[in-house]
Parts: sequence; structure tokens; C-alpha cells
Amino acid sequence: MTAIDPCDWCEEVLQPFLDRELTDAEMREAEGHLDDCSYCRKRYRFEQSLRRYVRQVGDPMPAEMKARLSDLRLAL
Ligand SMILES: [Zn+2]
Repeated sequence: MTAIDPCDWCEEVLQPFLDRELTDAEMREAEGHLDDCSYCRKRYRFEQSLRRYVRQVGDPMPAEMKARLSDLRLAL
């Protein structure tokens, strides 16, 4: 754990969870964690809206936009 990221879970599981790459048991575990952990909930909502946004904008994202998004992520 670091000061920037209070929950290790996010780093390991959030992306595969968003990508639906987990097993059913892991998905349930992930949902349970999201219920318990307000940090991950916030992070999850952020990543979800980010993904929606990226789909709208398309790839590649402008470098300036990428930098702004990573600032936002750290500010959570
Ligand atoms: Zn968490």
C-alpha cells in the first residue's frame, strides 16, 4: 500500500473485473469487496465512466487528455 493508493485490491482486480475476465467466484468476491470498500467503489465508478468516455472518444486518446485523466485518478 502507498499513500496514493490506499487499497491494493484495485490494482489487482479492478481492471479484470471491469473487463469481465474473472471467474464467477472471483466476480462475487469482487462485488463483496466493492460493497465494503468505499475507496474501491469510488475508483470503480471512476474507471467505469472513464471507459464509457474512451469508447465515445475512440483510440488513441490525445496525450493531453491522458495526462488529465491520470491526474484525476490520483486525486481520488
Ligand atoms: Zn478496496
